[in-house]
Amino acid sequence: MDKYNKRETIKNTTFWSTFFDKTKEGKRFFSYRMKRWILVISIHLLFFLSFAIDIQTLEGTLNGSRFLGFHLIDVYTNMQLALATYHIPINMVIGTVTIIVFYLLVGGRSYCSWVCPYGLLSEIGEKWHNTLVKKKIIKERKFDHRVRYIFWALFLITAFSSGYLVFETINVVGILSRTIAYGWSLGLVWVLVVLAFEVFYSRRAWCTYICPIGTTYGMIGKASALRVEWNDNCDHCMVCHDVCFENQVLEITKAKYDKQREEKGITKEYITGADCTLCGRCIDVCHEDALSFDFRLKSLV
Ligand code: SF4
Ligand code: SF4
Repeated sequence: MDKYNKRETIKNTTFWSTFFDKTKEGKRFFSYRMKRWILVISIHLLFFLSFAIDIQTLEGTLNGSRFLGFHLIDVYTNMQLALATYHIPINMVIGTVTIIVFYLLVGGRSYCSWVCPYGLLSEIGEKWHNTLVKKKIIKERKFDHRVRYIFWALFLITAFSSGYLVFETINVVGILSRTIAYGWSLGLVWVLVVLAFEVFYSRRAWCTYICPIGTTYGMIGKASALRVEWNDNCDHCMVCHDVCFENQVLEITKAKYDKQREEKGITKEYITGADCTLCGRCIDVCHEDALSFDFRLKSLV
């Protein structure tokens, strides 16, 4: 992707080329998309190999696992379990606290971009969706992203009232994670249904409007140390808005805030919205280098 010389972005170039960025001099390097895909595939390869050939490195699934003997429990899974059974075993507490501390450091919804296997499928679906929109075969349909908080509460209430983890029956993340670790199941059909909905109806719908796992990590992310930082090199081209499926968090890149910033002498600002997945797509496409990752606690390290 040649953002400096050709103004290429995730939307106007081939899917393959988005795995690389080019410097102003034309030297190719791995984009954040490439780095994310390598990490997601590596994590799930470890899940697979730990079960298939018993290497015992990362055992279990994304709902609950052991990494080199340390318990890791997904926060939303634990919340559902606690409400369904009125009981939280000590291992679950330890595993959940470990995960919360980890995501407080690296950014809550980094889970969505850097860990979740459905995220990769959804990115492919997004490319198909954008192509269909561009060819005017389908329309772009957007809803209020805050509907995700209703789903978040609804699945907790159903766990409490039924005693079952109802969400887990439709959780595409859990279904994929179990499929990779232990083999396929009929649940995969549901994953394809959700993907088809995203391709033909609404871009990244599961991640944007439904997934309570992402919503939970977003809540943690409000206080997290790793952030995307904006600087005043920005020419307000809005390309970052175009490629971000949670672009409500990029409001600060709009020109209308410049006057306020000038008055206060602000030249840098953090993107603080809970919905940022720290995917780095905005950084990958910004031809003014106005966006970068920044670790807020670096002065303490
Ligand atoms: S941050 Fe970069 S991509 Fe976003 S509006 Fe500014 S110049 Fe454009
Ligand atoms: S603001 Fe940037 S890093 Fe955050 S979700 Fe949007 S594209 Fe990804």
